[in-house]
Amino acid sequence: MTGVYKPVMSNFQQKKPKTSSQPAKTGKKRPASRKKRLSRSRYNRAEILEIFARFKQQRNAPQGELDHVNPFTLLVAVVLSAQATDVGVNKATKKLFEIADTPEKMLALGEDRVREHIRTIGLYRNKAKNVILLSKKLVEEFGSTIPADRDLLVTLPGVGRKTANVVVSMAFGQPTIAVDTHIFRIGNRIGLAPGKTPDEVEAILERIIPAEYLYHAHHWLILHGRYVCKARKPDCEACIIADLCKAKEKSCDVPAQIIKIED
Ligand code: SF4
Repeated sequence: MTGVYKPVMSNFQQKKPKTSSQPAKTGKKRPASRKKRLSRSRYNRAEILEIFARFKQQRNAPQGELDHVNPFTLLVAVVLSAQATDVGVNKATKKLFEIADTPEKMLALGEDRVREHIRTIGLYRNKAKNVILLSKKLVEEFGSTIPADRDLLVTLPGVGRKTANVVVSMAFGQPTIAVDTHIFRIGNRIGLAPGKTPDEVEAILERIIPAEYLYHAHHWLILHGRYVCKARKPDCEACIIADLCKAKEKSCDVPAQIIKIED
C-alpha cells in the first residue's frame, strides 16, 4: 500500500523458498516501468497523520509570505521569487504593484521601468522581460484573466510547474504541492518523500499526504524548512516533529512544545 512503512527485514528472517509458480531468474533486466517506480516515504500513515496534525496545531491556516493584491500580482511575485527571498521580492514589488496591478498596466509601464523596480532581485533583467511577455500574453490570449489551470499557466513566459502550482493553490484554492528548495530538502533529508527531482518529490507528497492536509501542506513544509529544518543546520531543538523525524543528521529526539502561530 502506498506510503506504508516497511521495517527493515530482520537478519534472521528466513528467505521464502521458491515455488514452482515463481519464474526462474533469467538474468534479464527489469521492465523500465518498475525501474522508474517512485521511492517510498520512510513514514507510515499514522506517522504522516501525526506530523501534519502537529503542523496544523502550530499554524492552522498558513499563508504564503509573498505580498500581492490579486491573482495577477501573485503570479508576478512568484515569477520574481525564483532564486530570491520573499522579503526581497516584497520590497521590490511594493511600489511596482501600486502602479501596475493588472496586465494592461504592466504592459503600459514597459520593460525598462519594470526592470528599474525589480533591480534589487536576482536575474532581474530576464525577469522583467518575462513579466512583460506574460502580461502581453494574458492580454492577448486570456482576456487579461489568470487561468485557473496549471497546464495553461505553464504556457506563460517565465512560468514553470512550481510557479503554476503556487498560483492555482493560493489564488484558486486547488490543493497542489509546489516543490521549492525547502520542500525538496525536507522530502529527502527526513525521508518523507525521497526523490531525485522536484517532480518526483511532488508526486510522492501528493500520494502520501492525507487529503485533509493537502491544501496547506505546501506552506507547512516551506515554513518548516525556512525557519526550523534549515539548509545548513537544522534547528532540531525547535522542531515539533523531532521525535518522529528519521533524518540521519537530527540532533534531538525531544519534540519542541507546539506554540500556536497566527499568520
Ligand atoms: S528533527 Fe531536525 S532534521 Fe528532523 S525535521 Fe526536525 S529540524 Fe529537520
